[in-house]
Amino acid sequence: FPYTTLFRSALTGLANRKGLELALGQALVHCSTSSTHLALLILDLKRFRHLNHAYGVSIGDRALQQAALRLKVALPQAIGIARLQADRYALALSLPHPAVASRPLAEQAIARIRQQLAAPLTLDGHLLTLDVRAGIALFPQDGQDVPTLMIAAEAALALARSDGSEHLRFADPELAQRAQRTAGVVAEIRRGLAAGEFVPHYEPIVDLTTGDIRGVEALARWQHPQRGLVSPAEFIPVAEDMGMIEALTSALLPQICADAARWSAAGDPRGVSINLSARELNAGFVERLAEALRHSQLDPARVTVELTETAMVENPEQALQVLQVLKCLGVTLSLDDFGTGYSSLSYLQRFPIDNVKIDRSFVAELPHSRRARQLVGAILSMAHELNLGVVAEGVETQQQARLLAEMGCPRQQGYLYARAQSASSLSRQLLDIQGQLYGLRLAA
Ligand code: C2E
Ligand code: CA
Ligand code: CA
Repeated sequence: FPYTTLFRSALTGLANRKGLELALGQALVHCSTSSTHLALLILDLKRFRHLNHAYGVSIGDRALQQAALRLKVALPQAIGIARLQADRYALALSLPHPAVASRPLAEQAIARIRQQLAAPLTLDGHLLTLDVRAGIALFPQDGQDVPTLMIAAEAALALARSDGSEHLRFADPELAQRAQRTAGVVAEIRRGLAAGEFVPHYEPIVDLTTGDIRGVEALARWQHPQRGLVSPAEFIPVAEDMGMIEALTSALLPQICADAARWSAAGDPRGVSINLSARELNAGFVERLAEALRHSQLDPARVTVELTETAMVENPEQALQVLQVLKCLGVTLSLDDFGTGYSSLSYLQRFPIDNVKIDRSFVAELPHSRRARQLVGAILSMAHELNLGVVAEGVETQQQARLLAEMGCPRQQGYLYARAQSASSLSRQLLDIQGQLYGLRLAA
C-alpha cells in the first residue's frame, strides 16, 4: 500500500482519499478475478462539529486521531482505512461470503467499530464519547468501480445523517442509479477542467449614489461543447462533494485575476469579487490566490472574497486564521447570502468581515412583504452599527432598487442592471448600463 505523503492524512497517519481510491481499485481487481464481494464503509463522527466548537480545535484534532486508532483496532483486517476529510473516514472489507450474507457482515463491522469508539476518552480533563454513522455500499451490486461505490456510500451516509436516529444505511438501487449519474458528471467535470471549459462571467455591482459600477462579481460558467453554458448550481455542489472544488478554483482564479488586472491597466477603477466555497477556506486557497495575484500583478485591494457562514461554523479556528491571512494580503472580505444561514452576530464580531450581502431571497419579496422589509431594515441598521458595507443582490425591479436605496442600500446587483456575462461582452455593455443607471438615479 503506497504510504507516501501524497496518499496519507498528516493528522491521523491514515490513508487519504487518493490512498483509499488506490487501495480500493486494487481490491476491486482482486474481487473481480476471485469472484469475492466487498463492502465500502464511509463513516462520520456524530456531533463532531459540536465537539470542535465546544472544546476547541486542538481537542478536536486529538479526538480525530483517537478515532483513527480505534478504527484500526476494531477492524485490523480492513483495506485502506482512510480519513477522507474533517471527521469522515472510510474503509473497505472483503467479504468472502455470497451476497446474501454481505449485509449482516457489514452490520457486524459497524457494531465492532461503535463498540471500540464507545470506550470513554479523556482529553485535557474533558470526558468525551465518540460514535459514528455509516453509509455502506456493496461490491458488485451497488457499483463496479471506485467512483460509483464511493458515491453510493456517500449518498447512503447522507441519508443516515438526515435521519438523526440511524446508525447505518445501505446503498439501494435507486441510490446506485443516482450515484452512476453523479459519477458521470464527475468524469465530465474532470474532462471539462482538462479542456479549459470553465470560465468566469461577471455581474456588475452598482452604486446608486454615484451612478457608477463599483465592481463585478465573478461567477463560474461551464462552456460545455454539447450543452452550452451550464449553471454553477449544477456543477459547484458536485465539485464540492467530490473533492474537485480546489481544481475548479485553480482553473478560475488566474483567469479572474488576469481579467481584473487588464481592466485596471486600462484605467478602470473597478474591483472584482470572488466566491469561495466553505470547503476550501484553508491555507491552500490563500496560496492559490497569492500566486494568481503575483502572476497577474493585480492589486489585492481590488479583490473581494465572498464566503458564507457555513465556512466559519464548520471550523471556526481555522477559518479565523485563514481570514486573518487574507486580510493581511490586502483583500476585502464579504459575507455572502447574509440572513439565510446562522446569521450569528458573534461571527461578524469575531471575524474580520468588511461587508455583508443581503440574500436575494429577501430582495425578491420586496417591496410587498412587510416581514422582508423589516428584515432588510434590521440588517442595514446592524451593518451600520458594526461599520460594515452592504450590497443587495438579486435586484430585478426598479421598485426594489428604489426602496433599497431609500432604506440606505445604494450598492446593488441583479438582473435589473445586467446578468453575468463574459469579460469581452462586459466592456461593451458597461456603457449602456451606466446610461441606464444615470436615468435611475435622476428619477429617484
Ligand atoms: P451567489 O454567490 O449568491 O451568486 C449570485 C447568484 O444569483 C448568481 O447565480 C447570479 O447569476 C444570480 N442572480 C444575480 N442577479 C439575480 C437576479 O436579479 N435574480 C435572480 N433570480 N438571480 C440573480 P449563479 O451564477 O447561478 O451562481 C449560483 C451560485 O453558485 C453562487 O451564488 C455561488 O454560491 C456559486 N458560485 C458561482 N460561481 C462560483 C465560483 O467560482 N466558486 C464558487 N465556490 N462558487 C461559485
Ligand atoms: Ca456570491
Ligand atoms: Ca449570494
